[in-house]
Amino acid sequence: MKIAEVHTHLLDHRLEVPFESASMRFDRRTHVLVEIVCDDGTVGWGECLGPAGPNAAIVKAYAARLVGKNPLETEKIWADLYNALRDQGQRGLTITALSGIDVALWDIKGKALGQPVSMLLGGRFRDSVRAYATGSFRRDGVDRVSDNAEEAAGHRAAGFHAMKIKIGFGIAEDLRVIAAVREAIGPDMRLMIDGNHGYDTLEAIELGRRAHAFDIDWFEEPVVPEHLSAYRELRSRQPIPIAGGETWHTRWGFREALETRAVDIAQPDLCGCGGFTEMRRIADQAALHGVRLVPHVWGTAIQIAASLQWMAAMVPSPVRRDPIEPILEFDRTHNPFRQAVITAPIEHEGGVVAIPDAPGLGIEVNRDALAEFALKEV
Ligand SMILES: [Mg+2]
Repeated sequence: MKIAEVHTHLLDHRLEVPFESASMRFDRRTHVLVEIVCDDGTVGWGECLGPAGPNAAIVKAYAARLVGKNPLETEKIWADLYNALRDQGQRGLTITALSGIDVALWDIKGKALGQPVSMLLGGRFRDSVRAYATGSFRRDGVDRVSDNAEEAAGHRAAGFHAMKIKIGFGIAEDLRVIAAVREAIGPDMRLMIDGNHGYDTLEAIELGRRAHAFDIDWFEEPVVPEHLSAYRELRSRQPIPIAGGETWHTRWGFREALETRAVDIAQPDLCGCGGFTEMRRIADQAALHGVRLVPHVWGTAIQIAASLQWMAAMVPSPVRRDPIEPILEFDRTHNPFRQAVITAPIEHEGGVVAIPDAPGLGIEVNRDALAEFALKEV
């Protein structure tokens, strides 16, 4: 079995109502999928976190090294690709591109062996996982407080046990949003806040101290991700658990954060941190240092399916209370191709998502949707 072809699929949709986090504005949804075709006809799918065009360009740069290789040799291929750009590419797009390739190779490996990836990772501890709703961005032309509260009530009505809102737009306004959302969802639903590194250290300390009264599960990316000493300071100077890691890459990118306990909750992204191959090493490090791991998920159903395979195989904490179990980040913002790219959409039922058990990632890609949403302009 050999790799014969490597393709990228750029998907795009212009949003009628743009939205923004504290660090990024979304006028369109754009994602890139990776397709690896083998000489026996087996096809594997992956996805890269981050800017689609640059990711696709790097996947193409890696492609020449992939053709002719045995796709089952995931460690050998990972090392070869990493070494190829190591000197200038230890983090960032080189790793997010490598992640999409690695996920596609594990999909192929599962299909070749007739097993879901979760079995290849060591077995399924669970067949379903609770999801938390991610949304509540700032949308153009609407009042953020009432808009977010209304959305939150919808998540509660849909059965979600937890949700996360976007903050980082200013302490006073953020506190009004947090208060309105807590009132909308009541006291029992878990609530997380995500600063998307919109604050400096002093602002984040103040926000954390004042938001604590609203029973917040975690404070995600309070400050820029490079600033690990500020993360550590936040853990000691405000009471909400600190989360982060969606922009950290590889075992080396996580090492200091985990060894020095800069976060209470590490959030590597399977399609960004280096794929299944590297996620295993990051998870081992997190366990070694007693840091909880809740994967970051943001993308199409390819990424969701890959993340579910990973979560099926996550070793449970010896403490079996509910909050310790892995929970799936489930993006609720508008994206018409998120689920359209697969033939059987991955949806939640009462806030619970079933984990596919078919070979590989457990999904079938819908090529009609790839054509419909293909990027037509740059
Ligand atoms: Mg985040």
